[in-house]
Formats: sequence, C-alpha cells, structure tokens
Amino acid sequence: MAAKVQPREIKPGIFQLELPTPYPIGPVYAYLIKRDPISLIDAGVNSPQSLAAINEQLRYLGVSPPQIERLLLTHGHSDHYGAAQTLRDTGAKGIFIHPRDMDKVTNRREYYLRMRPYLAQMGMPPDYLEYFVKFIVWETPYARDLDMIHPIRQGDLFFWDGMKLEVMYTPGHSPGHVIFLEPEGGWAITGDFIFAHITPDPIIDITPSGFRTPSMPLHMDSIKRFTARGIHTYYPGHREREGRTREALEELKKRMAYKKRVYLEILAQGPMTPFQLMRRLYPESKKGEAFVLLSEVMGRLDLLEMEGGVVAHRTKDTITYSLKGYGKP
Ligand SMILES: [Zn+2]
Ligand SMILES: [Zn+2]
Repeated sequence: MAAKVQPREIKPGIFQLELPTPYPIGPVYAYLIKRDPISLIDAGVNSPQSLAAINEQLRYLGVSPPQIERLLLTHGHSDHYGAAQTLRDTGAKGIFIHPRDMDKVTNRREYYLRMRPYLAQMGMPPDYLEYFVKFIVWETPYARDLDMIHPIRQGDLFFWDGMKLEVMYTPGHSPGHVIFLEPEGGWAITGDFIFAHITPDPIIDITPSGFRTPSMPLHMDSIKRFTARGIHTYYPGHREREGRTREALEELKKRMAYKKRVYLEILAQGPMTPFQLMRRLYPESKKGEAFVLLSEVMGRLDLLEMEGGVVAHRTKDTITYSLKGYGKP
C-alpha cells in the first residue's frame, strides 16, 4: 500500500492536501480552509484513489464533506474539479467557478468534441484524431459534469473568521482560470497559473460559439497583471509545494525567450501547420501527448502572430504559419 500522505498546514487553518491523478503531471494539491465557513479550493479527480485520499485527509483534519460550505474551483480541468460533484453528493455545499469555464464543467464531452475540426485544421492526422476521441472516453469517469454552480469573478472577496481571499481572474491556461490572493500577507493559491520549472500548457479551448481562445497571449497578460500585485509566495496545484514568485517569473521569462528562438528557427525552414511544427519540436512524442503538445505550439504561435514575426494563412480546412516575409525576394 502507498504511504499515507498527511495534509500540510501552509498557513494557520489552511491545509494543502495531496491527491493522486492518472495524468503525467502527477498529484494535484487541493486546499482545505478549516476556518468558518469550512471551504475547499479544488477537488482532485473523480477516481476511487483520489476520493479515498481526500476523505482520509479530511478525516485526519476532523472534517467531513457535509461540513464543507464552499467548494471554490481554480478552473475547469478534470484534475481540479473532477470530484466536485461526488463531494457534493456526499454533502459539500456551493460550488464556485468562473463563468468562462462553466461550459466545460457542465458538458465535458461536448467541450472536447467541438475541438475536433479545429485540431484537424491544425494538421492533426486522422489516426491522431481517433486517438483523441479514445482519450475523451478514457477520461470520462475522472470528471463528473456539475449541475448547480455559482459564478466567481475578478475582485470577488471570500471571507472567513479572521481572513479573506480575493479572486484574481487569470485566463490563459484555461479561459476561466482564477487564483485566490491574500494581498496583505503577499501569498496566493494559484492552481495551474504559475510553476517554477514548467510553463502551464495553455490548453486549446473553443467556446460554445466556436471562438478559439488565444490562450498564451491571455496567459502572458495575466502574468503581467499578477506581477503588479506584489505576491511573493504561491501555493500551486502541482509539483513544488510552494514557490517564490520572483524566481518563477524569472524562469518563465528565460523559457519564453528560449522557446521563441527555437520556434523561429524551425519556421525559418518554411511554412508549416501547427501539427508539423509540433512533430519537429517533439519527434519522439507519443500519440497520447499530442493534444497537450499541440496546445503548447498553438499558444506560442498565437503569441508570435500577435507580436508580428509570424504570419498565419487560414483556409477553411487548414492553417499554416510562416515567418513574416518568408519566400519574398
Ligand atoms: Zn489545468
Ligand atoms: Zn492541473
């Protein structure tokens, strides 16, 4: 049997819970605020292993799901909201999420399926698209659709006895991503917004009305607004248990500059689809990784296009990218 993980108290009355996921990223952190009213930030996936882990850690802290008055979600990805509906079935109360992520947590299958034509347009071949559909089926049990949810928005304040957290809207990784700030203490609970050694993959996202969100430009804009808030410590959704904002932002800057150079070098070889570019970057990658890697490529191409160095050529069926001025004498 795996060693039992004990919750870690990161601030008085706030506990970091470690929950297993079936994804390559590894465990996800949820945060229990054991103050009045008892609240949980993020919920983990809806797997028997994760539900056992969360129930065991809640029990260790003397909390049962019916005592959870608020379930606050950083964003609508299955590793963060997957178990929310099951926790509500066992008594947890109001679930809160940003309106821009409501479509995917209320109808996950639809959210994935409407991406298909866009992935095809990005050059994803039929065998990869088939694999993507298989992935959707595989992932289904890990996230149950939510029924009743309350919206949270930029600037909303949540109060506890002796503490408050402020909602900051940080779209990018997901169009409805939010983080929870404690401005006086200079810390925040940040979901998938910021990490020390990885850039949060800005996942491809199509709105129900068919608009593809420019995820990476949005993310970088959120980073800029976050930087201005003077938050020195963050508690993320994965990997390191806590991080220093300044170091993470410096690392991010270096990674962004490096990747930009690599992308421009590859595009100097000629026009290509996002999928072709992804294969050049990651020739060893497996089919199961294609969606996340293509998301990264798409996000960075959006950014390069917006900066003006790269031009997109769009038709109904394909989209290719080239360096500005490529092929001109
Ligand atoms: Zn996420
Ligand atoms: Zn995550």
